[in-house]
Amino acid sequence: MNLLRRILVLLTALMLCWPLPADDNVFTVVLDPGHGGKDPGALGKTSREKNIVLAVAKKVGKRLQDNHPKDIKLVYTRDKDVFIELEQRAKIANNAHADIFISIHADCVENKKVYGAGTFTMGMNKEKSNLEVAKRENSVMLLEDNYEQKYAGFDPSSVESYIIFELMQNVNMENSIKLAKYIQNNLVAKKRLDRGVRQAPYWVLHRTSMPAVLVELGFISNLEEERYMNSEKGQNELAESIYQAICSYKKDHDKLRAAVKNINTQPQEPEPTTATPAAETTGIRFSVQILTAKSEIKAGDRQFKGQGDIVCYREKNLYKYCCGSYVTEKEAIDRKNSLKKLFPDAFIVAVKDGQRIPLAEARQQTGH
Ligand SMILES: [Zn+2]
Repeated sequence: MNLLRRILVLLTALMLCWPLPADDNVFTVVLDPGHGGKDPGALGKTSREKNIVLAVAKKVGKRLQDNHPKDIKLVYTRDKDVFIELEQRAKIANNAHADIFISIHADCVENKKVYGAGTFTMGMNKEKSNLEVAKRENSVMLLEDNYEQKYAGFDPSSVESYIIFELMQNVNMENSIKLAKYIQNNLVAKKRLDRGVRQAPYWVLHRTSMPAVLVELGFISNLEEERYMNSEKGQNELAESIYQAICSYKKDHDKLRAAVKNINTQPQEPEPTTATPAAETTGIRFSVQILTAKSEIKAGDRQFKGQGDIVCYREKNLYKYCCGSYVTEKEAIDRKNSLKKLFPDAFIVAVKDGQRIPLAEARQQTGH
């Protein structure tokens, strides 16, 4: 395999299965049945969301254990009717070094005619309806003690709070979307209405550091779907859809892992270190944006709070001011952290030739 090809495979592997767990061949799945205990979730006419999602999760789990006793490790965030805080759910997944995280829910709206299945990834879509769903699922935080401290002032009922999600990057987005698509395709193969793969700012997904999706099995507020989700047949179909999606995803994952292993075991060619496109030559710089203004602000202005290395770029008719100009995103992140007290809303931007470019693009081009 020539060097370029190696690099391509490696980069793809990094993108697709980061983080690679240390050398174990076990694929860890975390199943997260939503709600539980004092939090019933959405209420149907005869049933509660927490019970439906637990039943379906357990059926998924049973399939995984029966068919993959050795190569899949299964972790539940809850396997009985107990209340688990959102933060704890994410912690469970992170501690297990999970390969994937699947949160299972049932949706509910006032209009009882609405039905269908949908799968969500954590994303930046501020589309109102997604925001409404996310707010509903996140509002469980209000049931937790000291939620304000725990979630750093995040108020699940305020739209503004969701804007912070815009600034967050999800390295696992690609994988999350892939997994979500597998699940959604299987769900709608059973003649269910396809509500699509969408993005919504769910807290529990944001806090997990692996590909993560949230499945809304159907609408408990719709009589027919409530019946379906409570029936043995319905639950088996739903569980099978999720189980098969996990298998498909794992297959891709295993292939990539094998490719990476293959590269690692091949003797290394004494190649020069021009492996990744040198960031220095791309002209891309990472900065920490701290201010936006309609008119120019002079260097040394009080608004910069003593920061000397201010750089500016223009967007529309606005002046955007940033601190520092770094070749790697990591350096910008360190700088952002050091500016936290002075500029709590600061965020990372990538700039090329005086124009802001999407971070994803910058990462791809710089190989960082
Ligand atoms: Zn829910």
